[in-house]
Amino acid sequence: MNKIAVVTDFDGTLMEQDVGSTIMKQLGVEQESQLIEVLARFKRKEIGSYTWIEASTPLLEGKREQVDRLIEDKELRDGALDFLSFCKGEQVPVTILSDGLIYYIERILDRLQVEAEQVISNPITYSDNGELRYGLQNDNAACKWCGCCKASVVRKLKQDGWSIIYIGDGGSDYYGSAFADWIFARSSLVRYLTEEGTEFYPFQTFWDVLEVVQRNWNDFLAGTAPRRLNVRVPAACSFPDDET
Ligand SMILES: [Mg+2]
Ligand SMILES: [Zn+2]
Repeated sequence: MNKIAVVTDFDGTLMEQDVGSTIMKQLGVEQESQLIEVLARFKRKEIGSYTWIEASTPLLEGKREQVDRLIEDKELRDGALDFLSFCKGEQVPVTILSDGLIYYIERILDRLQVEAEQVISNPITYSDNGELRYGLQNDNAACKWCGCCKASVVRKLKQDGWSIIYIGDGGSDYYGSAFADWIFARSSLVRYLTEEGTEFYPFQTFWDVLEVVQRNWNDFLAGTAPRRLNVRVPAACSFPDDET
């Protein structure tokens, strides 16, 4: 029987909103003159989030209270709690994997009383005196593309013997889902996987995810659930030659 683990993205996936992007927009970071070109290049995929986060995050210095206010009303995607409780009941560990900032993710999960096996994202946070602390969750020396190198996290779970159900919506999930066994996708991840010819399950709410997973649970456990993938090569994110 397969050991199944769930890996879900946070912004725009577990959450109804893209919290990180809302913060950057609402606090005027994206509109700063020195970032306009960087953001355009990031959106054109000429640079990765590694460079974008490095350039944009320092502009959140001194804005802790504004960030706190902005995240107050952000909500989980419909069905998320039921899906998480299904996972708990089946003893399926859930990893919340994000290329966002641990600061807002932890506060939101705390407020919404969401429990997960692990939360992995960029260790960018405010210290008690409000000072911004910077870091990237990327221990893949070969990858200078991702902030949080999602592909290397999922790859490690696979190496530890887990079969992965991956749930995501955006750019960082192109790489994150590369080593997954099954993908649930919405938004731009749908477009990307469709162009790539990779199979996936579309979803809008976690009720959709739950419906598929519950209906096919024995097949997931047996490893025979449809749309199972072989490893894909993650686009711009790379690994040491000898390890792929
Ligand atoms: Mg996302
Ligand atoms: Zn990477």
